Amino acid sequence: MAGFIIHSVLVTGANRGIGLELVKQFLGKSNPPEWVFATCRDPEGVQAQELQNLASRHPNLVIVVLEITDPASIKAAAVVVEEHLKGSGLNLLINNAGIVRQSTLETESLEGMSLVYTTNVTGPLLVTQAFLPLLKKAAQGSNQKGLSCSKAAIVNISSECGSIQNVYLWHIGQALSYRCSKAALNMLTKCQSLGYRDNGILSVAVHPGWVQTDMGNSAAFTAPMTVDVSVREILNMLTTLSEKDNGTFVDWEGKVLPW
Ligand code: NDP
Repeated sequence: MAGFIIHSVLVTGANRGIGLELVKQFLGKSNPPEWVFATCRDPEGVQAQELQNLASRHPNLVIVVLEITDPASIKAAAVVVEEHLKGSGLNLLINNAGIVRQSTLETESLEGMSLVYTTNVTGPLLVTQAFLPLLKKAAQGSNQKGLSCSKAAIVNISSECGSIQNVYLWHIGQALSYRCSKAALNMLTKCQSLGYRDNGILSVAVHPGWVQTDMGNSAAFTAPMTVDVSVREILNMLTTLSEKDNGTFVDWEGKVLPW
């Protein structure tokens, strides 16, 4: 982790849960990024208070408004980030924001499927499109060979619940729209890995574990892993990723998961 030097990172859904912890741990590194862009829907709201407190202590933290279901908001966020970067690229894009809706085969609806797909799949697609020029710039400006997260990478925070083989935690909840959305996010990751490999950009889907966040505890069970441990392991794992990991689906430890 100490040798993992990145110039800039952007995390979506960074006001709470895994996103907030990612921001905290990036800022707490002995060699923190020059820029940490933390996006959230409502930077002035009570839910962003912790992020605001962090920003008052860390001048390299920039809070950016971003509603991932709104293409105009995504484009505006990319403009803000580009202005801060002053000609350099964005090394690491972490598509973390996401939602879950409890549902069953009987109760799932058009609204539920649409909202969860728009948030968990279309959102990361559009965010990546908007930040692609900055990711390409980072890759072009790097003298590193091969692919890595310190050069240019798209990390899509997925879930083993979307693994068609494992159907993780089925006994806890069917969460149909969520499972389908994460299976689709995995396919998006694979497509991005094929489409952007020649641009020097690594793409990977990451299952963070079952983690103690609002989402992780939302099915009336307490998740087994703390957010601190999950994110520490994820950051360690990201340092190890290279060409061979492009287009894979891995867990927080780097173990390859079945699609
Ligand atoms: P939380 O519910 O704690 O946080 C979700 C974050 O996403 C919040 O910052 C939320 O912002 C943001 N978000 C939701 N919808 C939007 C939107 N439309 N536009 C912008 N931001 C939005 O979830 P976690 O931290 O647990 O989850 C983070 C990621 O990890 C998700 O992709 C999730 O699917 C994945 N994951 C989590 C697991 C767990 O056990 N916790 C397990 C497997 C995967 P706001 O405060 O405004 O709602």
